[in-house]
Amino acid sequence: MNDNKYFGASEAELGFLKEIVRMLPAGLTVQDAHGELLLVNDAAAAQLGIDGSRPSPDLSPRREACRQALSAGQPVVTEEAIHNGAARQVLLTTHRPVRLAGRELLISASSDITEQKNFEDQLFRSAYFDELTGLPSRRVIEHHANGLLARDGGERFALAFLDVDNFKHINDYYGHAVGDALLVELSKRLGRDLRDSDMLSRISGDEFLLLLSPIQSQEEVAEFMQSTLERLTAPFFIDTSEVFASTSVGISLYPDHGRSFETLRQNADIAMYRIKNDGKGSAAFFDSSMEREALARMKVEQSLRLAILEKRFCCAFQSKVDIRTQAVTGIEALVRLRDDEGVIQAPGSFINLASELGLIDELTHLVLAEIVKSIDLINETFGAEATISINVAAKQAGNPEFMRSFAQALDDTGFPSRFMIEVTEDAFVAKNHFQAEILPTFRKLGVGISIDDFGIGYSSLSALADITADEIKIDRSFITDIHKRPRSQGILRAIESLSEALGMTVIAEGLESYEELAYLQAATKIRYAQGYYFSRPIFLEELKLVTPISSEARVNMVSRPTQQNRQGYSRASGYRR
Ligand code: C2E
Ligand code: MG
Ligand code: MG
Repeated sequence: MNDNKYFGASEAELGFLKEIVRMLPAGLTVQDAHGELLLVNDAAAAQLGIDGSRPSPDLSPRREACRQALSAGQPVVTEEAIHNGAARQVLLTTHRPVRLAGRELLISASSDITEQKNFEDQLFRSAYFDELTGLPSRRVIEHHANGLLARDGGERFALAFLDVDNFKHINDYYGHAVGDALLVELSKRLGRDLRDSDMLSRISGDEFLLLLSPIQSQEEVAEFMQSTLERLTAPFFIDTSEVFASTSVGISLYPDHGRSFETLRQNADIAMYRIKNDGKGSAAFFDSSMEREALARMKVEQSLRLAILEKRFCCAFQSKVDIRTQAVTGIEALVRLRDDEGVIQAPGSFINLASELGLIDELTHLVLAEIVKSIDLINETFGAEATISINVAAKQAGNPEFMRSFAQALDDTGFPSRFMIEVTEDAFVAKNHFQAEILPTFRKLGVGISIDDFGIGYSSLSALADITADEIKIDRSFITDIHKRPRSQGILRAIESLSEALGMTVIAEGLESYEELAYLQAATKIRYAQGYYFSRPIFLEELKLVTPISSEARVNMVSRPTQQNRQGYSRASGYRR
């Protein structure tokens, strides 16, 4: 290019064009028929590493593309990955053979698509692999199972549904980072000893699917699962914590328990549910009796949803009594469900399910609404000073959204300081926002805080020191036969003195006998108790049937359980005895 004129352009124009080519943002190279580079602009020099950024740039792919495009005599588009240490650069290049001044040349234009490529890869990975554990996703295991099902005379295989026990508890107690780390460690232990033809997949939060294929017999699968479960019982050391986790497993076999992935998965799930209810931490194979159980459970679910919709809930009230004066100082609202047949059900049969189905928040609002509706009768019966306790599940207590709406609803009653909320100790020690952020809102309203069922949860006695509550209710399991159990007496003394130091009122729950009462009165300073000895939970509408009670009578409103009301709820007439 020494001529002053080239293709009719002046030297100045030529220099101008060269400059433009040099500075183009796309990489541009021109090669001759031997693959030698005749022209390389700045972007191409950087892309190929011949600008000095790499010690020995590998130009062989470029030469090979040149050879191919020239021999084909037409444009070729290639995707070229250039590795520079750990970094990867992806170029999309169009190679175009041209004839210029009698020479065969190849013009190549490259754009850098690294970012787009990384994004595509990430999308691919997240569609098919779980980000946390790196395990294949549900889609992949389903595809794999469908492949096995499609084979003629398909071989037997097993599908196991695994669910970590109390994972929510672990998450709440130790925090999400530990929960995540536990899932990673668990998946490693689960994945050990698998064959290439087996597949482990994480399908959601704490749920895994394991496909074992091929299998010889049910016994072989049972033995394998047993050893896997045993491996999981050893503690996990995460951060500074020693975490114990067990897993419940339900297994279905192909073709015995289903001929489609969905049926096999569902049946494995049903078997897993049975294990959860039978004490967790082991494995069971599906059988048809479980299917009937699952159907029955679905019926309960349906009727619970319907009951909420139709507001078929009511409250029974149980009094809190001053054991020194026999005065009623407060009442606790205990929810009851009127089922489809009109039979009254205690919360044991539906509270956990309501919580699982996400219906519990609505239920708590219904309880409050019933209290507000009946407040005149409550005042008439128990006195206008009696505190009113409402139970809040630990799951709700850790949910700021619900607790805000509940605090608002309590404030809207116009008498928020009459209320106490009863929460189990787990809610206080969980690493969520309950104690630090949610409680202050309730305190501001004058709502009292009570620790329910103390002594059976996860926390230790020393955890009490960090809890700010007004009242502590000692679980019935410590109170039953307390006069005959020196160990429980010791525990009671310890709780009592600690609570006194922390300024919390102590209530003994589930007091049933005169002997228990006599022990509390004589050997402890405990002032308050709740239990069948004084009164069973009663319905207000039963009270409506009797004449209003005078204030002296109210002070003595305690009833001894009779044979007649031992099984049912105390009736108003019994209550006034
Ligand atoms: P809790 O809050 O500890 O309530 C005390 C439970 O013990 C009540 O059972 C009560 O009927 C029973 N009880 C009281 N005195 C005695 C006694 O002397 N002996 C015996 N054996 N039992 C006694 P209930 O009503 O079946 O409630 C069970 C649990 O259900 C409650 O335990 C509470 O945790 C939960 N619950 C009740 N209502 C609600 C509610 O509205 N929301 C929520 N989240 N949970 C509720
Ligand atoms: Mg309670
Ligand atoms: Mg309790």
